[in-house]
Amino acid sequence: MSELNNLFFTENYDIISFHKYRYGQKKFIGNGNHCRFCKKDKNETTFSNKSHAIPESIGNKIIILCDECDICNKFFSENLEDHFDKYTKPYRTFARIKGKKKIPTYKSKDEQTRISVDKDKDIEIFIPVGSKMDETHNSIKIPIDFEPYIPAAVYKTLVKMALSLIEDEKELEAFQITIKWIMEKDHSKHFLLPLKMQTQFMEKDITDSFVFLFRRKEKIENVPYAIFVISFGNWLYQIIVPSHLDGDSFLYEIPYFYIPLEKVFPKTVDLSGIEKQSFSNNFILKYKTMENLVF
Ligand SMILES: [Zn+2]
Repeated sequence: MSELNNLFFTENYDIISFHKYRYGQKKFIGNGNHCRFCKKDKNETTFSNKSHAIPESIGNKIIILCDECDICNKFFSENLEDHFDKYTKPYRTFARIKGKKKIPTYKSKDEQTRISVDKDKDIEIFIPVGSKMDETHNSIKIPIDFEPYIPAAVYKTLVKMALSLIEDEKELEAFQITIKWIMEKDHSKHFLLPLKMQTQFMEKDITDSFVFLFRRKEKIENVPYAIFVISFGNWLYQIIVPSHLDGDSFLYEIPYFYIPLEKVFPKTVDLSGIEKQSFSNNFILKYKTMENLVF
């Protein structure tokens, strides 16, 4: 992968949103007069909750969407973000990302393994007696169970973030059917298929989490209308934001957005699934010396 990857983006796209979202001054999007999702105004619905344009769970403290009503906020949080939360939770523990209240703690189903972050931000790991350590590589392999999640809801959460970051309302016209799709409880009603997410795992985490929303330049064809890129902790996720303006045939394989870091592992994940699925993954943790290990 190289910087040349990003030529694809600069040649075909304009950036309509770019933010660093973990630290800094608060940013308010919209004026709170109406909800951009259900279209209701102040007389028809309420706007009392603070709606985060990017979930608080991945560390967004500063970007607030004013144009999201309480009913839509509740719907997205229960039907979409809850799945995204489960899909990303163990990674957030390791990246020490503080959500609404605290950094999440991981506990295995049998409660034999527990991973948490102490007050000094050190990671504490409790593993069953007899767990094998790889002393040649100074590492431990820990199987991590993810709570069941619906893949399509994870994808829709990312789309919802992209739409929440749009400041110029005119840009929303391209996503009117997209809005209906993310507000549809029934995930079997497809809009874009397959739902592929391009991921990059970075050995070094990025504390300066960022988002990019790319919108196709005028006169450009055959590439998706919009692409959303978001980083948090050790991950970079990249998706196509579906639009009815996309023709039936467009370039589906998008180059990976390039970040100048060493040891980056790219992988495409298919999030088309509409049923809850369980997932388990082996995490390999490296420690510096045996002295780091407290028994
Ligand atoms: Zn609404």
